[in-house]
Amino acid sequence: MANPLYDALFGRHAGKQTPFLYLPDDRLITHAGFLAVTARYANAFDACGLRPGDRVAVQIEKSPDALALYAACVQAGLVFLPLNPAYQPAEVSYFVGNSGARLLVCDPANAAALSDIAEDSGARLETMDSDGKGSLRDLATGQPEHFQTVAREMDDLAAFLYTSGTTGRSKGAMLSQRNLLSNARTLTEVWRFTESDVLLHALPIFHTHGLFVATNIILLSGGAMIFLPKPDVTQMIRFMPQASSLMGVPTFYTRLLDAPEFTRELTAHMRLFISGSAPLLAETHEQFAARTGHRILERYGMTETNMNTSNPYDGERRAGTVGMPLLGVELKVCDPETGAEVPQGEIGVIEVRGDNVFQGYWQMPEKTAAELREDGFFITGDLGLIDDQGYVQIVGRGKDLIISGGYNIYPKEVELLLDEQAHVVESAVIGVPHGDLGEAPVAVLVRDKAGEPDLNAIIAALNRELARFKVPRQFVVVDELPRNTMGKVQKNLLRDQYTELFT
Ligand code: ATP
Ligand code: MG
Repeated sequence: MANPLYDALFGRHAGKQTPFLYLPDDRLITHAGFLAVTARYANAFDACGLRPGDRVAVQIEKSPDALALYAACVQAGLVFLPLNPAYQPAEVSYFVGNSGARLLVCDPANAAALSDIAEDSGARLETMDSDGKGSLRDLATGQPEHFQTVAREMDDLAAFLYTSGTTGRSKGAMLSQRNLLSNARTLTEVWRFTESDVLLHALPIFHTHGLFVATNIILLSGGAMIFLPKPDVTQMIRFMPQASSLMGVPTFYTRLLDAPEFTRELTAHMRLFISGSAPLLAETHEQFAARTGHRILERYGMTETNMNTSNPYDGERRAGTVGMPLLGVELKVCDPETGAEVPQGEIGVIEVRGDNVFQGYWQMPEKTAAELREDGFFITGDLGLIDDQGYVQIVGRGKDLIISGGYNIYPKEVELLLDEQAHVVESAVIGVPHGDLGEAPVAVLVRDKAGEPDLNAIIAALNRELARFKVPRQFVVVDELPRNTMGKVQKNLLRDQYTELFT
């Protein structure tokens, strides 16, 4: 009986002693070894009374066993629901209650704090630590290394992935086998992954980037991963000589550039560096090219849609753009009010359609109806434009748009100018409540190590380049911007922090 996602990602490796996971302590897990562990967990799920379609919530540290839980869910027809280990019990309570999970797997250290939550939601609680040890492994240890794969169809759900919560409460995106498999197939092809690839994997596996983009591609291509528990720069540099490719969020690249040991020689053998999940500054792209000779390939995606666009593998990888729509993905830029497509080159809301687009938000029918059109287009909430060569540029999120005195201000336009100024590493422009204007733009500047930005010179420079209403009314200089685990700037926190600036 068929299970398209299991067969394509995992089943194809049955019996193969080929390398799958290289661990920092020099252990190697082969494909066959990983599948044996997977089958044990699938049997353990069965022994827990879980049935196809049930949700399994996991809030645990990254480990090979944690990855095997994903594989076991696919094999047993369960819906995998990974959660950021940073979430506090009250947040976990929302996810477990909202998803109706039948099983919650947590770190043993959190078991006491989460046991009532699990009980209230009718979920069974099992544990797993960062070494994979805990009650769930105890249950799995006596289980057979073979499991009869549960039949699934392409439209069956494979995962609930909660969005990062950058703009509000996280939403559970329902992803089908087709959503995951179609995107993994496309990306494997366009980024030319093969069985000779060794991906340096330092991303978390509770998010689409590290879980679906990175892992699914490697499984599909038959390559291997160097599986690091954390994005530690020293470790990344140490293992880079054994890798062929790296996928990272922009902060990986800025941190690597900060390390003097990160040299052209160290990267000379590398095939590909990919960035996503947050905007890569054009400056970082250029600095990286100058240091290593490699042009980082930037792509754009989201929890709800997997990946939508990518810079070309062979053609020009253009800094500050996210490339062209992927094969099988339709992308249009629309007027936020009317939904009509805007002329090429104009800014609007990005909408996407394709096999990659999710099935809706779990138990949020109004939100699903508001963002997923009947014709299949998903309103991403990101603002962008398509340039004259077909490259998509993201100018920011709709929720970050500033409306000041009736005029629209796209923060990105102002940020790009600010970032060019002396002693400014990066910047965030936000809208802050203002008596006259409704909202006024405020610039938060990150100072560099060498000195303090000259605000008078910056204001003069902005006045030369921008209409007066776009020039920030106030400037704040800080050491760093607040970022979440995926390296996304949390503008909502900045807005909260400076909300009383004009009162
Ligand atoms: P929430 O939806 O809960 O507010 P989130 O949108 O940050 O959180 P994710 O699905 O993890 O949750 O992130 C997707 C978003 O990340 C995209 O909508 C886009 O704003 C941003 N993003 C991803 N890749 C890029 C990129 N290359 N350049 C700019 N922005 C990007
Ligand atoms: Mg989002």
